[in-house]
Amino acid sequence: MKAMGAIPGGFEANADGRLMIGGHDSRWLVEKARGTPLFVYDNDLIGAKIALFRAALPDGICLHYAVKANPYPPLLEWLCRFVDGFDIASEGELAALESVGAACIPLSFAGPGKTDRELERAIEAKATVSVESESEAKRLLDIAGRLGTRPKVMVRVNPPFQLKGAGMKMGGGASPFGIDHDQAADVVRGLIEAGADWRGLHIYPGSQCLDWAAIVEAQGASVTLAGQIADAAGAEPAEVNLGGGFGIPYFAGEAPLDMYSLGQAMGDMLAECPVSLGASRFTLELGRWLVGEAGVYLTRVTDRKESRGETFLVTDGGLHHMLAASGNFGQLLRRNYPLAVASLYGAPVEEAVNVVGNLCTPLDILGHQVALPRAEPGDLIAVFCAGAYGLSASPQAFLSQTRAREVMV
Ligand SMILES: *Cc1c(COP(=O)(O)O)cnc(C)c1O
Repeated sequence: MKAMGAIPGGFEANADGRLMIGGHDSRWLVEKARGTPLFVYDNDLIGAKIALFRAALPDGICLHYAVKANPYPPLLEWLCRFVDGFDIASEGELAALESVGAACIPLSFAGPGKTDRELERAIEAKATVSVESESEAKRLLDIAGRLGTRPKVMVRVNPPFQLKGAGMKMGGGASPFGIDHDQAADVVRGLIEAGADWRGLHIYPGSQCLDWAAIVEAQGASVTLAGQIADAAGAEPAEVNLGGGFGIPYFAGEAPLDMYSLGQAMGDMLAECPVSLGASRFTLELGRWLVGEAGVYLTRVTDRKESRGETFLVTDGGLHHMLAASGNFGQLLRRNYPLAVASLYGAPVEEAVNVVGNLCTPLDILGHQVALPRAEPGDLIAVFCAGAYGLSASPQAFLSQTRAREVMV
């Protein structure tokens, strides 16, 4: 038997012993959606995260949502009422926001390799563009000049440090992201001289970190660096985007981020911020932490088989919808996401089984030797922590299997 991660809070069984999501019976949700595989996102759980952010973190910190974590349009439409801005990374994400009228709050656009068309669309949408290179800054100025407008621009900085303990590190070396920290002040000065509306600095040192002290240490280093760049450029940034990096527990032995300790330490750190940032607004851009635990991926068992002493539950889903649960989304070692039999939720554990998808590849594993109640064909399997980097981060076209549905409750 292999360990699996803890099921996040907010999921109970109903009187019939089935998993409830957002107050609804999982079987009813599947019937209503006309079948599996199905992603269900519970907006109450996202609302609780937003409330926790506001309660724990210092007043005045802006909360942006990083659309790439989950671009499901109804989710964006719901979120735009509760967050202070959206961070987008492509024209497609901008279009998703516009399609549901959610592009009405501040937008920032970061990401390497923005095309001319994307820069033009960003300027027209009045987004603040985070430039990732000097040449991109030049293209932005040229395009804005052609359009006869003054572009809103931030300079993304490639810092000389990285976020310790992060699942994905974004700084500290050569990088396609951001302008090397020792060139950033020159680019800021150039933008201001060219007449751009320079909004500030953007530093994103890593993702999926569960250690509040490491996050605040990286934020402190970012604030110090932003102060040095502001001094060297002779200009005070209106805004400093400190990135995110807030993680969620996926695997056995991981604990949730301690938000109150983080908030306290962040307040202490900002109380000592450099003079040149005295009037700056600080922003955090979060994806995974806000929505990750609010999503459940439901699949149905289509076959149960034994092979050389092991039991396999074969489902109608798999890595083409939930690549990260299979371990193929950049993890070095495959570990089990939290999993349950949704149709026998809370029933006693009876066996160790392999839960696999229906793709013709041995990589398609959702759970390896996980302890579950005895499930038969027809039972529903729930994979938790499926709200971020789930469907949109998976190779859905691979093997042309059934497409997953999505619903927000
Ligand atoms: C992906 C990304 C985020 C969100 O990261 P999470 O780990 O999901 O919070 C924030 N900012 C930028 C620039 C990103 O690329």
